[in-house]
Amino acid sequence: RAKSQGRAKYEIFDRAMHGTMLRALKMEQEIRRALDSHEFLPFYQPIVDLCSGKVAAFEALVRWKKATGELVSPAEFIPLAEELGLINQIGQQMLQMACAQISTWQKDFPAEALQISVNLSGKQFNQPDLVDQVDRAVAEAGIDAQFLELEITESILMENTDAIVEMLQRFRERGIRILMDDFGTGYSSLSYLHRFPSNVLKIDGSFVRRMGDDTGSHEIVRTIVLLGHNLGMKVIAEGVETFEQYSMLKSMDCDYAQGYHIAKPMPADQATTFITQRNLGL
Ligand code: C2E
Ligand code: MG
Ligand code: MG
Ligand code: MG
Repeated sequence: RAKSQGRAKYEIFDRAMHGTMLRALKMEQEIRRALDSHEFLPFYQPIVDLCSGKVAAFEALVRWKKATGELVSPAEFIPLAEELGLINQIGQQMLQMACAQISTWQKDFPAEALQISVNLSGKQFNQPDLVDQVDRAVAEAGIDAQFLELEITESILMENTDAIVEMLQRFRERGIRILMDDFGTGYSSLSYLHRFPSNVLKIDGSFVRRMGDDTGSHEIVRTIVLLGHNLGMKVIAEGVETFEQYSMLKSMDCDYAQGYHIAKPMPADQATTFITQRNLGL
């Protein structure tokens, strides 16, 4: 009896596993096809200067736009793409499109000096030619490398730190700024920070969101801003959803804000309209 029950459990488990594997396999084929037909594209979310209120930069956030028009968010495909090694190709396409967009905005708004930051997965640092890929994307778009920024999270420093630090140095030699994303949520924020060549801290949205209702979060945000400034870095607050949060950050001397209070990520053409209205007042 116990034996047959055990077997029944296995069969249920097997069937569930089988279903999961089939879905993963189908998804893999879909991602490969989507890469070929260029269904991955960047949405752009503005990052505003808290002094001037103007857009200083945009973060490029990948969306999978299916032929049906359906938009799939990165949480639904990035983890599998990372596991399958397909994140490298998605990342390369994102870099190319972001560089092309920099070129367009440089021509349309030369005085605004708008930057675009591109998220890099830790897995992409396993490619020895990552720096060459970035160089090529910059050269093909004919842009100045200083308008490109790269976002990484602290978690990439968990392994192979020396090789990664060296790649980050090479980016910085080119004038490409490194943004430390989701700051405050990683393991060793403080011990890594001083040997980690980044130029900008992005305070994780989870602290910003709790800022109004708990003094702990308020103090954490204030302390990260001071820490960043003491280390000669600029600080961006992510996940700014309310006017109250925006004002608090401004009074803390935080440099930049990003979040739904300003705008959600949007397609390139809408971002162009946003720049025109916000920075040129048209
Ligand atoms: P992230 O880099 O930390 O990006 C910020 C996320 O917060 C974005 O979600 C953005 O839409 C969302 N967000 C912005 N403002 C607010 C706000 O005020 N409130 C709330 N609740 N959320 C806000 P998204 O676009 O779904 O991206 C999720 C994550 O996926 C990103 O987190 C990043 O880790 C990853 N990702 C996105 N694009 C790429 C990419 O091209 N390559 C790689 N490797 N990862 C990417
Ligand atoms: Mg990011
Ligand atoms: Mg972030
Ligand atoms: Mg985040």
